[in-house]
Amino acid sequence: APARVLVSACLFGDAVRWDGGHKRLDAAVLRRWQAEGRVLGFCPECAAGLAVPRPPAEIEPGADAAAVLAGRARVLARDGRDLSAAFVAGAEAALRAAQAAGATVALLKDASPSCGSRCVHDGCFTGATVPGRGVAAERLAAAGLAVFADTEIEAADRWLRALDGGTIPPSQPAEPR
Ligand code: SF4
Repeated sequence: APARVLVSACLFGDAVRWDGGHKRLDAAVLRRWQAEGRVLGFCPECAAGLAVPRPPAEIEPGADAAAVLAGRARVLARDGRDLSAAFVAGAEAALRAAQAAGATVALLKDASPSCGSRCVHDGCFTGATVPGRGVAAERLAAAGLAVFADTEIEAADRWLRALDGGTIPPSQPAEPR
């Protein structure tokens, strides 16, 4: 069977983002993955029961997703509500879904407080980003999945083909920096 990949649901055009919109990724590679039956679409924040639309949320300034998962930092909505428990629940749900589907690769929408894999917003709700992962991306990476940003779909495709061919990819994708 082809190697499977968990993909952020909003990249398929599912209207699940905080603002009620989506981030459809118009890419031939993604259409091919679907035709090959290797894709699992998933939205961690919806899985955690967060509404659509919902207030935007960011990891608090100076903290990272690993600290959120460890209970040492928070994810806050712009209105000040502490959404940490929901974001951690969404991350755990993403890992369970990936494991149930046998997915060892993920392609995630960058800059999201759940799905960011190269960058996240800086916690000040100004639109500025800093290097780092969202909470679900951090959980998947910590469990050994190869996590790619939506901008890295070609690299993710090479990774999947290496797995299909029985080749162990040489190393994990680079850490965010
Ligand atoms: Fe997309 Fe992930 Fe945000 Fe859901 S949590 S809307 S899948 S970026």
